Amino acid sequence: MTTIAGLRVTLKYLFSRPITIEYPDALPNVPEGWRGVHAYEVDRCIVCRLCERACPIECITIEAEGKGKNARLLRYEIDYSMCLFCNLCAEVCPVECLWMTGEWDLACYKREHCIIRFHERNPEEERGKLWPGMKSHPARQKRRAVEAGAAAKAEKPAPAGESAQGTEIQT
Ligand code: SF4
Ligand code: SF4
Repeated sequence: MTTIAGLRVTLKYLFSRPITIEYPDALPNVPEGWRGVHAYEVDRCIVCRLCERACPIECITIEAEGKGKNARLLRYEIDYSMCLFCNLCAEVCPVECLWMTGEWDLACYKREHCIIRFHERNPEEERGKLWPGMKSHPARQKRRAVEAGAAAKAEKPAPAGESAQGTEIQT
């Protein structure tokens, strides 16, 4: 009886499409909203430290000199050997300069290699880098798309009998 039940399961999956992929030759398509490695725009960061305070396991390290509006960022890093990918840090960021991307490959052989330094100020490189290459926060991209759509709509002459309507921008 057990053999028949086992064979039934085997036959069921024998002709269906495999759900596994041959990594690393094939890479997975991550769904929208995936919480992977952060992206950080240093030029927008106001060094308020809200992300650092929101992190439940204190894996964000911010080094800065000065306070308030005069604060100057020296270092921004995240230790991915501890990160829970909870997104709390990104949610509290008031200027949307920190968000989570679909970047998932974080394999490293040593714990210290799991620390990603998003920014380190030095004389040769005054400006930090946006990593891993996203242009801007997804919420801002969405807003821009809505704005562009509204502008395109405003340019088109409204059909007779219809009044032009404003587009609400989601924030
Ligand atoms: S995702 Fe969560 S655990 Fe990771 S750095 Fe942000 S707040 Fe901390
Ligand atoms: S919450 Fe945003 S603006 Fe404030 S320090 Fe963190 S990344 Fe920078």
